[in-house]
Amino acid sequence: MAEPSTPAPDATPSAQDAERAAQLRAELERHNRAYYELDAPLVLDAEYDRLFRELQDLEAAYPSLLTSDTPTRRVGGKPVDSLKPVRHALPMLSLNNGFEDDDVFNFDRRCREGLAAARQAQAATAQTCAGQGATGDLFGESAAEAAPPADFTPAASAASAAAGATTPEVEYACELKFDGLAISLRYVNGVLEQAATRGDGATGEEVTENVRTIRTLPHKLKLDKPPAVLEVRGEVLMFKEDFQRLNQRQRDAGEKEFVNPRNAAAGALRQLDSRITAQRRLSFFAYGLGEFEAGASGLTRPPGHKEIIDWFTAIGLPVCEERRRAVGAQELLDFYRDIGERRASLPYEIDGVVYKVNLYAEQEALGFVSRAPRFALAHKFPAQEELTVVEDIVVQVGRTGAITPVAKLKPVFVGGVTVTNATLHNEDEVRRKDVRISDTVFVRRAGDVIPEVVKTVPERRPADAREFVMPTACPGCGSHIEKLPDEAIARCTGGLICPAQRKQALLHFAGRRAMDIEGLGEKLVDQLVELSMVRTPADLFSLGLMQLAEMERMGKKSAENLLANLNKAKDATLERLIFALGIRNVGEATARDLARHFGKLDAVMEASSETLLQVKDVGPVVAESIRNFFAEPHNRTVIDQIRAAGVHWPEGEPQMALAGPLAGKMVVLTGTLPTLSRDAAKDMLEAAGAKVSGSVSKKTHYVVAGSDAGSKLAKAEELGVPVLDEDGLQKLLAGEL
Ligand code: NAD
Repeated sequence: MAEPSTPAPDATPSAQDAERAAQLRAELERHNRAYYELDAPLVLDAEYDRLFRELQDLEAAYPSLLTSDTPTRRVGGKPVDSLKPVRHALPMLSLNNGFEDDDVFNFDRRCREGLAAARQAQAATAQTCAGQGATGDLFGESAAEAAPPADFTPAASAASAAAGATTPEVEYACELKFDGLAISLRYVNGVLEQAATRGDGATGEEVTENVRTIRTLPHKLKLDKPPAVLEVRGEVLMFKEDFQRLNQRQRDAGEKEFVNPRNAAAGALRQLDSRITAQRRLSFFAYGLGEFEAGASGLTRPPGHKEIIDWFTAIGLPVCEERRRAVGAQELLDFYRDIGERRASLPYEIDGVVYKVNLYAEQEALGFVSRAPRFALAHKFPAQEELTVVEDIVVQVGRTGAITPVAKLKPVFVGGVTVTNATLHNEDEVRRKDVRISDTVFVRRAGDVIPEVVKTVPERRPADAREFVMPTACPGCGSHIEKLPDEAIARCTGGLICPAQRKQALLHFAGRRAMDIEGLGEKLVDQLVELSMVRTPADLFSLGLMQLAEMERMGKKSAENLLANLNKAKDATLERLIFALGIRNVGEATARDLARHFGKLDAVMEASSETLLQVKDVGPVVAESIRNFFAEPHNRTVIDQIRAAGVHWPEGEPQMALAGPLAGKMVVLTGTLPTLSRDAAKDMLEAAGAKVSGSVSKKTHYVVAGSDAGSKLAKAEELGVPVLDEDGLQKLLAGEL
């Protein structure tokens, strides 16, 4: 949406063009109403921008299509009736948009040439007035006349340049383009008297009480002698964190979530009840000056934008730190790129950067077009959200076996790249967002973050849209897919054989704290797997000298060393082997406990959940992981192969704890017991063979609850788990229950 260029005066539009322009106007009007007046956009900004540009192009090609009320020459939307109207002393305008580098070069060129033309015109005026004693600064009183005509175009400026005008460099102030909404704050004698939205640019809506809830905003300026009137302009926005918190609250209350921080901020600001605004935590950044009346303060307006913003900071107004002075288009682009790289890590949303000619005299000389100043440009980032269609939902297996549903998308350009896949995270998420195959969805790609499906557009769902079904077998290796009770992620249980997990599994197996196979690093594992020389850890033991010596960066000596280390690793211990198998949730300590407890690998492999629960620190989740791992026949085969390859370990007698009366029982403690401390109760239960766990699930046998018991008690009641008090606990320990 760069500045419109001059149309060819004699072009006649076809009936089709005229019809399309009318259609676009109507559609843009509808979107303006939804966006500005109802804070509930019907389409994405990128889609709106495309329609806007299409109309702009048509109007540029055929001036007769221009209407007096065309949306391309108007600002914002109508103020809503429920809020009091406020007439702006100076209009609040929009900004011209640029998307490409060329738009920035053209903007800089137009500014330079416009200023050169203004200078020339002023020089001519000065000559005429010389005899009458007129002086004035460069863009003094005559600035309005000196400004280029309203339809100032590159062609006109080229003519002026050709006429001998020089085009000196221009100093710009670079800022962020916050994705919030514009506000005007009127400080009278240093006190905030009125806050108003932009509205249609001429009339806004009074939102003073709501603005007063913004914590960072001073009600009184830090000035002993404040100006009679200071109108500060800036953006009201919602930080990402506050937005997430708000949506969490909405979710908890079963209410509709907000689409983005901008709409949440707009909705909050235009509330009729400022208590609601207060709960939504809005923020503010000042970025401009409106009306200024010095009064008795003796203050004079600083010469430029940068100076004003610095002064704002000094008088206590919140200003964003991310701003920079720049000269020339290249420095503007440097700022754009620098901010673009850091965009995702900023705590608030921005949709671009803004370049403003710094000196007010120069701004005034350049003037305005219908809806935006000529002295500023919003350089927008590629849209981070786009609409597309889900063609399929498949699952992918990660390096750790995590099974992730992925939406296969109709290719779409978003966040600066073409996206064909978007993560749906996990099955619960697919259900929560109700994403179906053939749905139209919003896809988001912010920074380097993996593209994700934000939400569906139910109105565009075809009748034959299909629901996603989570497969029960891993697409990589066919092993069973497990989903543990407290985890959202489903996982492949074929840890030792799954191709997706192969490299990770081999590196883990060879790790120093596992089988300790020195020399088997990442580079070598990559090659061995990619050349299909190794599929499972057992294959490592049949590698030959020549094969290894031929690997990249290996050579005979290293190959010999590796073989010697593989040989050494055959002499293992049970605990190292268990740890090396890479069973989910089984770390070194648990591996040691399992080895001690059972003494033999076969006993671990055959152990029931009840027996596993008797092992120190093994809870239901760990027990289930162990069971799932050994239930997978592929994993058992690999263990047999490891044995067959000559890996051996001493096996001893089990050192199982003497099964107490509560062996295999899961107990959860919550709240404060009348006489027993939590630790004492835990010790007593463990001594009786019970397992004390921190969370209540279907597998919990008892919950012992004292006073102030909270969510665990509620969960127990919900699941029908027996609840005991301290007396009940004593009876349980005494075997009386
Ligand atoms: P704009 O958002 O492109 O630019 C002007 C606004 O930028 C100002 O009013 C101000 O609020 C803001 N701004 C942020 N940082 C600033 C800074 N540092 N200095 C000055 N201003 C700053 O223009 P607009 O007229 O508010 O809105 C047009 C845009 O809104 C469109 O490009 C479109 O993306 C979106 N829109 C979307 C829909 C929709 O249905 N999705 C409808 C209407 C408008």
